[in-house]
Amino acid sequence: MIRFEQITKQYPDGTVAVDHLDLEVQKGEFLVLAGPSGCGKTTTLKMINRLIPTSSGSLYIDGKPAVDYPLDQLRWNIGYVLQQIALFPHMTIEENITVVPEMKGWPKEKLKARAAELLRMVGLDPDIYAARKPSELSGGQQQRVGVVRALAADPDILLMDEPFSALDPVSREKLQDDLLRLKEELGKTTVFVTHDMDEALKLADRICLMREGKVVQLSTPEDLLLNPADDFVRSFIGKRKEEPAVDLRAAMEKPDAENEPAVVLPAFVEVRILLNALAEHDSVGVESAGKIVGRVSRGAAFRLLARMAGKGGTDDGGTHG
Ligand code: ADP
Ligand code: MG
Repeated sequence: MIRFEQITKQYPDGTVAVDHLDLEVQKGEFLVLAGPSGCGKTTTLKMINRLIPTSSGSLYIDGKPAVDYPLDQLRWNIGYVLQQIALFPHMTIEENITVVPEMKGWPKEKLKARAAELLRMVGLDPDIYAARKPSELSGGQQQRVGVVRALAADPDILLMDEPFSALDPVSREKLQDDLLRLKEELGKTTVFVTHDMDEALKLADRICLMREGKVVQLSTPEDLLLNPADDFVRSFIGKRKEEPAVDLRAAMEKPDAENEPAVVLPAFVEVRILLNALAEHDSVGVESAGKIVGRVSRGAAFRLLARMAGKGGTDDGGTHG
């Protein structure tokens, strides 16, 4: 679906950002480009939608050279999400989401219905949020709008460049979970850039780990962990957080049918994230396999943490995820 053949990008100042890259992204695949800052991830991504021209080599989309597509057709068919999404401040959320479909000439009712459908997909009630201005949303909510805006015209390809890295840990986890669900539901061909190995391992079908414009290893998350190609990969994997985590199911009550939880955490969650959430909320929802399975009150959570501390460690045996 997306094929790089010996792609090189050399900037005018002589910097070789991408060096004879061979890479194929399969249809429906979620590929994560990972690697340290400056290794060429953003440059690689932006060559796909031609925000950056290649210096040499061939780049194909659906078997056709990317340069042979009319630029607007190419861009409309490729959703693009950035770290700091820029929503248009004077436009409503609905108008922001439907910019591209509107340019494509969709009728008014269809635009409205599409915006509502997309907002629901990421847990934002359209009756509340469609008419709001971006400044009336939190950072996490704005970023959520940025993600669905990229999906608005149902593009074949989704490009995401560190889309969650400016968010607080709770919002970040939530958006990652949303994205995992969208991945299952929509099956878009996605290229996702991150320098965060935890995020890469959580989201990717395959991870392409880059260094100095070259691919160091291209494998599934499991294979990367089990068979790192070299010391660079090993050290990159080693940068993962090995943070204490708890299983919230040990302190869980039934979900409260009357009140939707303001924050939902995965059943197995890092202590840091749990404490952050409890600083703001009296209880948190607990999610497992995409469903809310219960809630944990602040008191129950603290008692769980106290039991854990009494045992002298976390209850996960030191493994992560
Ligand atoms: P990443 O996204 O992995 O951090 P980039 O693709 O942004 O990496 O950058 C790769 C390399 O290219 C870096 O050395 C960076 O400094 C350089 N670079 C990026 N943009 C330009 C530019 N416009 N002109 C010159 N060098 C650039
Ligand atoms: Mg970058």
